[in-house]
Amino acid sequence: MKLRQSPFFENALKQFLDVAEKINLDPNIAERLKSPERTLIVNVPVRMDNDVVNVFSGFRVQYNDALGPSKGGIRYHPAVTLGDTAALAMLMTWKNALVGLPLGGAKGALCVDPTRLSRSELQRATRRFTMELISMIGPDKDIPAPDLGVNEQVMAWMMDTYSQQVGAASPGVVTGKPIALGGSLYRHEATGRGVVFCIEQAAEKIGMTLDENTTFAIQGFGNVGSMAAKALAKLGCRFISVTTSRGGVYNSKGLKLDDLYRCYKEHGSFKCYKDGEQITNKELLALECDILVLAAQAGQITIDNAEHVKCKILAEGANGPVTMDADPVIIDRGIFLLPDILANAGGVIASYFEWVQDIQRLFWDAEEIERRLKKIMHRSFEQTVNLSKTQKVSMRTAALMRGIGKVAQAMLLRGLYP
Ligand code: NAD
Repeated sequence: MKLRQSPFFENALKQFLDVAEKINLDPNIAERLKSPERTLIVNVPVRMDNDVVNVFSGFRVQYNDALGPSKGGIRYHPAVTLGDTAALAMLMTWKNALVGLPLGGAKGALCVDPTRLSRSELQRATRRFTMELISMIGPDKDIPAPDLGVNEQVMAWMMDTYSQQVGAASPGVVTGKPIALGGSLYRHEATGRGVVFCIEQAAEKIGMTLDENTTFAIQGFGNVGSMAAKALAKLGCRFISVTTSRGGVYNSKGLKLDDLYRCYKEHGSFKCYKDGEQITNKELLALECDILVLAAQAGQITIDNAEHVKCKILAEGANGPVTMDADPVIIDRGIFLLPDILANAGGVIASYFEWVQDIQRLFWDAEEIERRLKKIMHRSFEQTVNLSKTQKVSMRTAALMRGIGKVAQAMLLRGLYP
């Protein structure tokens, strides 16, 4: 099967099978969870501005909907594969279950480089892709959200295309929309803030005080990294280093967040930031610091550099930044690892809040959303840490055990039809 050609899917599957064995998962349930429930492959014709029709492949994978309608992002990237999409859909299933959302897991993708399309080409591609998915999506069925290469304008076009088809405005069909169309306040802050809620709890567990003597470094200064930096700085911690794909900056006395924002916004790098030394990604990962947040890409800490990591708390803001073989090395070094499916769950929790607000037609202020996010993150962290202690397993294994266990429980209760 095509899924098996993706190393990412193979990895996710292996992780699932390991955990299935640990929790003594019913073999019939395990068999069903080894592959997605439903997969749609489409080829999307798009008339380009020069009148030539290009065809882009697209996918939507609904991995499992035992707990509720499926939820997961849509990615626009030229190199995305069906196997990668299925792996991400599987991880969304465990993540949504872990944090207690009444949602299944899904993921979608269109194999296109959005930066090479004009605005009208992007709009035509999005509308036709939405049409191809129309039988699969809906506020009660499957609710897409933005992922890599997709912005809120794309989600607005998806919402509009779906609404035209059903004959009524349907904001609940997608999340990540502009606020004017039923998008939610606080969505931009949610993932980074969620990472920091976890860090606060991890610090408490290991007796670390968060003040000006607590140093932190961040890989990636996009949505997740910059918001995590803001939240840690607000707690009084000292921001000593940050890198992006275009290098980074270091100052042991502390970096000035406002100047970093300005510099990154204007130039897309920290070259104009004067009050610090240049630093590479490799150096940042090996930096002596209390907290390291990985908020860039997958596969950053591997078996080759795990020995050099010197932080006390390592938070996975990105998906899969620590590889499976590096995991035990990090744990042996006594580092408190906050796994991605827990640490970055603030993103999907905020998406869930947007959907709830849309279908209720009742909107919350930012304080209300932050309060609710904090409650869910705190509860999920405590449950994971407790399971990790009682079962003597890592935080990652505990998080997966809980997520998979909840999906399995729902499947057993629902039974098999017919
Ligand atoms: P983004 O595109 O806004 O920012 C990514 C940042 O990472 C940029 O600063 C970029 O320069 C940097 N980067 C890219 N490659 C790098 C490299 N090799 N070394 C150092 N820096 C590098 O993305 P984002 O929304 O902040 O997401 C970051 C990660 O978190 C992604 O893996 C994403 O899948 C994951 N994630 C995001 C959300 C969310 O709500 N945005 C939710 C869950 C998970």
